[in-house]
Amino acid sequence: MSVIYNRVALIGLGLIASSMFWAMKRKGLAGEITGYARSAETRDTARRIGLCDRVCDTANEAVQDADLVVLCVPVGVMGSVVAGIADDLKPGATLSDVGSVKRDVIDNVSPHLPDHVHFIPGHPIAGTEHSGPEAGFAELFDNRWLLLVPVEGSDPKAVAQLRALWEGMGSNVEEMEADHHDLVLAVTSHAPHLIAYTMVGVADDLRRVTDSEVIKYSAAGFRDFTRIAASDPTMWRDVFLTNKDATLEILGRFTEELFALQRAIRTGDGEHLHDYFTRTRAIRRGIIEAGQDTDAPDFGRGKASS
Ligand code: NAP
Repeated sequence: MSVIYNRVALIGLGLIASSMFWAMKRKGLAGEITGYARSAETRDTARRIGLCDRVCDTANEAVQDADLVVLCVPVGVMGSVVAGIADDLKPGATLSDVGSVKRDVIDNVSPHLPDHVHFIPGHPIAGTEHSGPEAGFAELFDNRWLLLVPVEGSDPKAVAQLRALWEGMGSNVEEMEADHHDLVLAVTSHAPHLIAYTMVGVADDLRRVTDSEVIKYSAAGFRDFTRIAASDPTMWRDVFLTNKDATLEILGRFTEELFALQRAIRTGDGEHLHDYFTRTRAIRRGIIEAGQDTDAPDFGRGKASS
């Protein structure tokens, strides 16, 4: 595959940025890739592992002459990061991000944008519970969705170029409007994460009573909650603070359903429970048919253990 951008700058060098770097390198999609992270420790790690062709000590230096700048920092700091680099963005450059929430990022970044820059927000629907520069790998985006959220007046040519980059990194690309994106993600990602955090929190209380049996027998289902609940605290704090309305809406519905299930259990309404679980099983089947997860027992972990 050929070079899509001559120079790319990655601001923030964690899981997503490092995966982007390795994915671009895998196919030779960028000429030079520069990078910047806030802490000297992360910059040193990046230099040690060869993450980025050039690691810069300031974001301003990293974005010099970049044709594409991608913000890979927590959602809550996107606006202030752009305020700091706006004057250094090259005329005609594309500015994008990978934040998990879109409306808040658009509202906070837009006021700082120079007229001569194309702003095209994005969000890879791919990740793991690991974070930091050493967590990334080239295959993270393979066959995963990348949602582009062009803002009003986004240049179609700049959008097509960014789409080509993400397709080159293995993603399937779709465009989506910002508020719709935030609602969809509240259902598929944000509310489930909060529920996992809650479940693990509850079990942590129980652990004191049951003397580590929760850990010992975790393969019965709890283990999968703990994986999600191990996700980065800063990232997820910002997700909930910035996608407040959609997340609260979905959690409201969740609570209603939970009450209905509680009532079914209390009143012995097996039909309700059975119908409900039949519907949810069909959703799982749909995810597997769409190629978004494995059908292997226990997610292919090997020995069946639940
Ligand atoms: P990460 O591994 O925790 O890395 C975050 C990076 O941002 C670190 O390099 C950190 O620098 C830097 N950073 C934090 N605050 C900063 C600031 N004020 N100024 C400059 N740099 C700062 O995070 P990630 O998982 O790659 O997530 C990055 C973005 O991708 C987030 O917006 C997240 O919502 C989105 N996203 C994440 C996932 C996922 O599953 N993880 C999936 C899709 C999208 P230091 O290391 O120096 O602190």
